[in-house]
Amino acid sequence: MIKMYGIFKHFQDNEVLKEINMEVANREIVAVLGPSGSGKSTLLRCINGLEEISSGRMDVNGIMVDAAAPKKTRQKNVQAIRLQTGMVFQQFNLYPHKTVIDNVIEALITVKKTPKEKAVQKGETLLKRVGLMDKRNVYPSRLSGGQQQRVAIARALAMEPAIMLFDEPTSALDPELVGEVLSVMRELANEGMTMMIVTHEMKFAREVADRILFMADGRIVEDAAPAQFFSSPQSERAKKFLHQVM
Ligand code: ADP
Ligand code: MG
Repeated sequence: MIKMYGIFKHFQDNEVLKEINMEVANREIVAVLGPSGSGKSTLLRCINGLEEISSGRMDVNGIMVDAAAPKKTRQKNVQAIRLQTGMVFQQFNLYPHKTVIDNVIEALITVKKTPKEKAVQKGETLLKRVGLMDKRNVYPSRLSGGQQQRVAIARALAMEPAIMLFDEPTSALDPELVGEVLSVMRELANEGMTMMIVTHEMKFAREVADRILFMADGRIVEDAAPAQFFSSPQSERAKKFLHQVM
């Protein structure tokens, strides 16, 4: 589903991703762990084209982006990749002036040109799936953080992405609201969605992920099964990290 070959990303002279090579298979759940500033968000943002890669090439669901390709080709392929990837952020970024259902169907109508009635039907199905059909007509400010994040997940799913990318989806939530968001994500995983999840929820990563990518200083330092990573991390960086968070 995702292949990265020798990806580098720098902001001015700050090298943020250094020779990233990795693959994510269809239906695989990959948790991305690592200290703050290690490049986790940048990695996800490069995959869905929110950031441009500086060098290397990547393939997302069959669409190739090569940093060395002409700008026009790159831009066209990045656009195509955006439609393949749904992204959920720490901050929910819902439109405050739109109701829950209108938030969910916004991109269906503006980007996919889905007829309104069909979009609403689909939006309602997704709201049921995240357990928020009763909030259909309210504005985001009336929802808890956990509910807002579940709306954000429904909104991303509305575009029928092949891959879902989550960047610390529960980090802004009060502790008692984390569980409801994780349980929606767990269901998605069980349904066979391909997912990359940056998270600090170690228990969730251990239980749900098929693989752990551990990042430090812009590199993937470990790429291992959860059981192996958590019980016998290989690098000093990972040992130190686990010691701090567990
Ligand atoms: P993480 O998500 O692991 O905390 P990030 O990918 O957010 O790490 O950041 C990695 C490094 O890249 C940091 O040093 C950060 O300051 C830098 N960085 C991220 N985004 C930008 C940006 N848009 N412009 C300049 N530097 C950035
Ligand atoms: Mg981050």
